[in-house]
Amino acid sequence: MTKYLFFTGGVVSSVGKGVTAAAMGLLLKERGFNVAVQKLDPYINVDPGTMSPYQHGEVYVLDDGAETDLDLGHYERFIDNRLTRVSNFTTGQVYAETIANERRGDYLGGTIQVIPHITNEIKRRIGLVEKETGAEIVILEVGGTVGDIESQPFLEALRQLRNEVGRENCLFVHVTWLPTIGATGEIKTKPTQHSVAALRSIGISPNIIIARADQHVDKSLCEKIALFCDVDKDSVIPMATADVLYEVPLLLEELGVGELVLRKLGLTAKQKANMTPWKKLVEDVRRPKSTVQVALVGKYVELQDAYMSVREALKHAALANDVEVEISWIHSTDLEKDKSWDVVKKADAVLVPGGFGSRGIEGKILAARYARENKVPYLGLCLGMQVMCIDFARSVLDLEDSNSTEFDRSTENPVIDIMLDQRSITNMGGTMRLGLYPCLLQQGSKASAAYAVPKVDERHRHRFEFNNSYRVEFEKHGMLFSGLSPDGRLVEIVELADHPYMVASQFHPEFLSRPMKPHPLFVGLLKAAKERAKKKISTNE
Ligand code: GLN
Repeated sequence: MTKYLFFTGGVVSSVGKGVTAAAMGLLLKERGFNVAVQKLDPYINVDPGTMSPYQHGEVYVLDDGAETDLDLGHYERFIDNRLTRVSNFTTGQVYAETIANERRGDYLGGTIQVIPHITNEIKRRIGLVEKETGAEIVILEVGGTVGDIESQPFLEALRQLRNEVGRENCLFVHVTWLPTIGATGEIKTKPTQHSVAALRSIGISPNIIIARADQHVDKSLCEKIALFCDVDKDSVIPMATADVLYEVPLLLEELGVGELVLRKLGLTAKQKANMTPWKKLVEDVRRPKSTVQVALVGKYVELQDAYMSVREALKHAALANDVEVEISWIHSTDLEKDKSWDVVKKADAVLVPGGFGSRGIEGKILAARYARENKVPYLGLCLGMQVMCIDFARSVLDLEDSNSTEFDRSTENPVIDIMLDQRSITNMGGTMRLGLYPCLLQQGSKASAAYAVPKVDERHRHRFEFNNSYRVEFEKHGMLFSGLSPDGRLVEIVELADHPYMVASQFHPEFLSRPMKPHPLFVGLLKAAKERAKKKISTNE
């Protein structure tokens, strides 16, 4: 019998429900269980692929090309599994499917209603995870906060599912927020009481409450929450904000949450959890180290969530190089206005991440130019590769009007152009070149040295590509096409021959970086950055 762990959120969003669910997945995997994770998003978009990163943060891409919520990145980084399309669905998908069924005549004669038609479709999609993965424990996170009008059908579906699979096979974990009154420093539980009351009004009583706060949560407060919210005393888990993300599973483990969950589900651990690698990881993060500065030049920098996987990948690679990484978040439009250059100039490396649309594009091109001319280590991710090529064409090949046709349709020198099979596409949703594709590495290149294997598979999300009519000219002038699709048609990695480390990929390596398995291209960047920082110290620059 599959067991279910349902995560709901209380009081406010963004309190770390996704991280908590991911950490719980790790604790259960460590105990020998086959764990699957799924995120249910209540918004009406079919997927986050068409949403602005300002609205939604990063769009996380899976092997099969699904464009998903950024929490799936947490799941993959903590549990170290490869998720698929069924691991994330939205209200939009549920309604689209139900309406398509209705048009086909599947419900002839019937009136289509939230209960049972929408809730049945939600339950069907939950069932797909277990079917696909054969998981013994399914962790299911409901996006948003209890009380939101959009999440009602999801919660109702979970209530029904609980009755169908039996209460003994389900646990409701409510992750809530305890605010602090600034004037007195007092932590308040009332909003939590209200959110649990809202949950109970739809027939769900939480079995475990994770009480999140910015400061230490006292035992007496936990007892108060237990009393007011009708939860066992040992099932209110205090969880102060951790300064190191990867400490969350350790904190939960210390509080005995892994065993508590198993006990409540009637399971016994198949093996002892070995948290030693995670303890070592957190110790390594805390150990004082020398710092390298990375200037991240993007267009959504006000919201770091927009670059969540890039930030994490940098941290993973920093650990591998035994350095601390300090990221300076630079708005590319500032560089166009001659601002923020002092920060870029201080940095030991420049990173230009992915992006869409023309705002700030010239600033990114300038950042690539600066890195090339000054031999500053550079990593370009997707759009970051395209701007590196545009700069090269403009500055080295003297093709001054070079551009991507994404930004200038009538440019005489479209060094980046729309992909052939993208030309006829008019629908914006889910139609890019998405997901895992193979890439062959050119022997002797920096990319091949970094990866140390001849072939890699990486995740993509783009419509534009390097225009092959410029390949010969680029190569003649020192650009190396160090990663190509197996048929040789698509440029996947470029690098400069005469540069310490100027490497850029058409794919998104950040999606495959894991805390214990840092991504080679990021490791390479920080290795070069570390060397540059060392040189700076020795020459007293
Ligand atoms: N806008 C560019 C393209 O579609 C780059 C995409 C990206 O950076 N993910 O090709």
